[in-house]
Amino acid sequence: MKIGHQKVVSIHYTLTRDDGTVLDSSSGGDPLAYLHGHGNIIPGLETALEGKVEGDTLQVSIEPEQGYGVRDERLVQVVPRSAFKGVESIEPGMRFQAQGPEGSRSVVVTEVTTDVVTIDANHPLAGVTLHFDVEVSGVREATEEELAHGHVHGPGGHHH
Ligand code: ZN
Repeated sequence: MKIGHQKVVSIHYTLTRDDGTVLDSSSGGDPLAYLHGHGNIIPGLETALEGKVEGDTLQVSIEPEQGYGVRDERLVQVVPRSAFKGVESIEPGMRFQAQGPEGSRSVVVTEVTTDVVTIDANHPLAGVTLHFDVEVSGVREATEEELAHGHVHGPGGHHH
């Protein structure tokens, strides 16, 4: 069975940066299962997997535009220290959920001074070229329930 729209696809993958640093891997665990054509995974990887079959392996490099997007410097903001009421110590690298006009998003603290805190709401992998080493471990039809939910149920998918 070929990978195409509304197929449930299971993959084992290793994701590395340009310098070879491993960012993520399914090795040693369940393969990742996703519903093809529903934006469950980044666009560049979904496109690369189109038409593949179980047992196929592929290596694909994905530019930020087809991955987690390019960095947007407007998402870097300097806010008063007082915006973090109730937080005893704020340090670079800490993550917070911030409420914005488009709902809550994850921000990371990049710099702290006595009065102000610099936060960055870019995705941690924004602007990063991604290198995937992928093996297709399974392809099957989606159930009606999975299609209604827009995601995969069971091993490697959602449990609810
Ligand atoms: Zn569901």
